[in-house]
Amino acid sequence: MARYVFITGGVVSSLGKGLASAALGALLQARGFSVRLRKLDPYLNVDPGTMSPFEHGEVFVTDDGAETDLDLGHYERFTGVAARKTDSVSSGRIYSNVLEKERRGDYLGKTIQVIPHVTNEIKDFLTIGADEVDFMLCEIGGTVGDIEGLPFFEAIRQFGQERPRGQCIFMHLTLLPWIAASGELKTKPTQHSVKELRSIGIAPDVLVCRSERFIPEKEREKLALFCNVRPDSVIAAYDLKSIYEAPLAYHREGMDQAVLDAFGISPAPKPNLSRWEDVADRVFNPEGEVTVAIVGKYTQLEDAYKSIAEALTHGGMANRVKVKIEWVDAELFEREDAAPHLEGFDAILVPGGFGERGTEGKIKAAQFAREHKVPYLGICLGMQMAVVEAARNLAGLKTAGSQEFDHESGAARFEPVIFHLKEWIKDNQTIARDVLDDKGGTMRLGAFTATLKENSKVAEIYGTHRIEERHRHRYEVDVKYRERLEEHGVCFSGMSPDGRLPEIVEIADHPWFIGVQFHPELKSKPFAPHPLFADFVRAAKEISRLV
Ligand code: GLN
Repeated sequence: MARYVFITGGVVSSLGKGLASAALGALLQARGFSVRLRKLDPYLNVDPGTMSPFEHGEVFVTDDGAETDLDLGHYERFTGVAARKTDSVSSGRIYSNVLEKERRGDYLGKTIQVIPHVTNEIKDFLTIGADEVDFMLCEIGGTVGDIEGLPFFEAIRQFGQERPRGQCIFMHLTLLPWIAASGELKTKPTQHSVKELRSIGIAPDVLVCRSERFIPEKEREKLALFCNVRPDSVIAAYDLKSIYEAPLAYHREGMDQAVLDAFGISPAPKPNLSRWEDVADRVFNPEGEVTVAIVGKYTQLEDAYKSIAEALTHGGMANRVKVKIEWVDAELFEREDAAPHLEGFDAILVPGGFGERGTEGKIKAAQFAREHKVPYLGICLGMQMAVVEAARNLAGLKTAGSQEFDHESGAARFEPVIFHLKEWIKDNQTIARDVLDDKGGTMRLGAFTATLKENSKVAEIYGTHRIEERHRHRYEVDVKYRERLEEHGVCFSGMSPDGRLPEIVEIADHPWFIGVQFHPELKSKPFAPHPLFADFVRAAKEISRLV
């Protein structure tokens, strides 16, 4: 049975609990342990699939097709362990399970209460797959004291109590604010946060203190004394220049040692941090810079494209260049010339998205990249819009568009080059869906295989003819337009194994123009940059050298 580390937060949100959890996972791996990370979110949405990227940031999709919180992306990027459906849960999902059981009569007419029914449901969730790893790291979203979070805190308290001694520890992340007027770091908010935690029965074993200033020994001792933790278990977490510095920085401050001490694991296996040393070296010693424009709709909130930004950084690391991202709002040039908005970039990326708003701008961005021979990577909607562009401007299908926008507006305005897929095959089974299904879960979601064409650019980039990538979309390029598009220079270089669904298109007469129906960014890691991103940045680097 795995040992459990529960990670909670206090004082304020957005302290980087997800990053601290992910970095701890990486450090435990560096000491030879296997880990799995899990997120428990207090909000009432059943899953983040239908939450606005403006509010919630990106939806991270797992191989097994779950739409999850973007923190799972951090977990994967730091540990390389593919997250699963069962690594993320919200209050909404827990309550919905409990209510479903109640309706089915599973509780035999008993009164259904938060304790024990909701807390039992949470505890059951915690134990899924617990025999597979040495450590299970469970992060509780929000901060201690939030009303929605209470059942989770109560459940982990019970869980810690019910397990054998030494099997669960609690790590609490807080903020030490710097008061400029008095020139002091303040420990009081942390003391209050720990007090709150202890009032619900949880005593932290490790305290991680975010601070923009150095934490003097005196303050550390004070925190240890007032918060009832050992001085060695007060870990400083200073602001970092790059998130990829986190494993090394937290190791220096003794985080992994404190965790192993709390479990009584002694002597602790020595860590091998060479992977993270190499990553840090690549981040901090680039030999050049390229600028990539991301042309999208949610450009005000960078978290909406979190994995793409990270994958570009990884691509830069593979080529030892810094990738500077410029966010360009596609709506700016829907009705005007795109050139003044797009000139001067070394590459253009059009990411995924939903709905018609901004799409004419994305089509113009694809056209600009194609005509000016600028490296172009179109992801999901970015691929679909590149196909629409080619259909309109190369193949002469002037009214080409996506059925998605016709469904949205209720009018048939477009020739449906991109059409609504109502059934597909997964694991030899046909899955059928209707457009009127529940909003969540009507998409082709999760990992699917694609076969790559001999001698295509993508086959060379991937170095194989069979790939598995993650999907999240309802619409597809209609294969019936394949011949016509191929006659005009579009190459269908990746297809579903049955040949029905186009997965990758390339523009033949172009140095680097690739559109992919899937989301390659979800599988990129700093220590294993995704081949498409690595090669995209290589192409951008070549262009930037030419000018
Ligand atoms: N809106 C498009 C679809 O549903 C693209 C989705 C995406 O980019 N993730 O097919």
